[in-house]
Amino acid sequence: MTNIEMYYPNMPKTYSNCPFMYKLKYIDKITMPQLSSWFEKGKKIHALANFYLKGQDITKLEQNLTYEEKEIFEKLKNNVYFQKEYVNSEYNLSAKLGNYWLGGRFDALMKDENDYYILDYKTGSAPKNPEYDFQTMFYLTILNIFLGDKIVPENLNFVYIDLKNNQNIVINFNSSLKEEYVQRISNVCKKIKEDTIFSAKQDERCAFCEYSKICRG
Ligand code: SF4
Repeated sequence: MTNIEMYYPNMPKTYSNCPFMYKLKYIDKITMPQLSSWFEKGKKIHALANFYLKGQDITKLEQNLTYEEKEIFEKLKNNVYFQKEYVNSEYNLSAKLGNYWLGGRFDALMKDENDYYILDYKTGSAPKNPEYDFQTMFYLTILNIFLGDKIVPENLNFVYIDLKNNQNIVINFNSSLKEEYVQRISNVCKKIKEDTIFSAKQDERCAFCEYSKICRG
């Protein structure tokens, strides 16, 4: 039984891939060194976007971008969803769903006359099944709980801004998705909380697993 009270989207994602990896990462709290270059580009774009949306002067930061990074940032600035009305960015939100606390950090939250848009910038690959990705399900559920009766689910949207392919993947929330997400999130949180074995998956993904060198699962 774990003592973790707050769940973030990466937790059920990791658990679904391999419960033993979940144990190593979130219960034993073992972190493995990562190649920083993998994340550098994404981190820079996220930081720049945040400063830009907050109205800060980013001239010097822009001058230090590589050609590729400049191109990516231009794509983002010209994106139709990024140009909507700003609400907040790098926005930490949490909400209680039954027995579980759900947490998330939105890249940006925008709105127009009727709708809210949670933005997520992707400099790498976008999720394969975006409608049922835990990030989508968590963030829309959190925002829906947070806004409460002020808005109907149909006016909430999640937008993956795929900067690699210059396209938007938009998930429009609605009442039936709301129910389905609540069910799916509650089920997986319950499963994690009640797990005492955390069995190892042992499949082809082990070859790419960051824990493969220390895994005795
Ligand atoms: S190496 Fe395989 S079994 Fe071990 S934690 Fe990673 S995915 Fe799970």
